[in-house]
Amino acid sequence: MELSINLLKKIALNVYDVIHPILGSSIAAEKSQKGAGGDISMQIDLLAEKIIIESLKSEKVNTLLISEEIGEKYIGNRDKAINNHNVLVIDPVDGSNNAVRGIPYCSVSIAYAIGTSIKDIRKAVVLDLVSKDIYWAVKGEGAYLNGKKIRVSNLDLSDNCIFELNLPKKNVFTYIESLKPIFERFHRIRILGSCALTLCQIAKGSIEAFINLRESNRLVDVAAGLLIVKEANGQFFSLDGSEIDQKLSIDLKFPFVACNANLETFLKNEL
Ligand SMILES: [Mg+2]
Repeated sequence: MELSINLLKKIALNVYDVIHPILGSSIAAEKSQKGAGGDISMQIDLLAEKIIIESLKSEKVNTLLISEEIGEKYIGNRDKAINNHNVLVIDPVDGSNNAVRGIPYCSVSIAYAIGTSIKDIRKAVVLDLVSKDIYWAVKGEGAYLNGKKIRVSNLDLSDNCIFELNLPKKNVFTYIESLKPIFERFHRIRILGSCALTLCQIAKGSIEAFINLRESNRLVDVAAGLLIVKEANGQFFSLDGSEIDQKLSIDLKFPFVACNANLETFLKNEL
């Protein structure tokens, strides 16, 4: 059975109900073991993931779950999940460091695919765990914020464009030097700390581009946001300008660029 966008929204709201009240608290920050995604999990991550799994079970969903802390696990009936090709790619809390330190920029990210690769992602929800703003998209049907259709901005390099830049810690100054032509053409830079939410900022036209050069950027962080950007008429591509379409997996990591339609050529040329 195909999962509905309303079910995905309901799961995100269940996460909000439990996680929002503990944002910035010491309970949220308690450290646990290393999650399947490679980062040290904190209580807030584990709690959010637990709510997601419980919600899926109570809704009797049969799916493969790819989620940051647990890795890859079948929920419900494994055979049915394999037969219906359901895959959920979830980051229970994207921006965990912000969430535990009380910086108001974190989200829950839920992507739903029928199939095995990125191009099979059909539905996506990103919920802002601070404001409760809910972004969602259905492939071929557009992107929405709280029920209102959203689109990327139509600003170009002659306007005051804003971009987010995410750099690897290693060789950071080499990267900065190579990005000089881009710095010169943009008005402001931000580093906000939740990839999923930043892709939504592009989708709703609040910023124009996101350059994420981290090789360690994970699929779970961007699976939902990339559909929301594309459905809002934006672009999402690899550093060499090609389309990103790989097999859905907890181990999948890749750097990327996302932007509005006007900046595509410039960024593809300069990177
Ligand atoms: Mg996370």
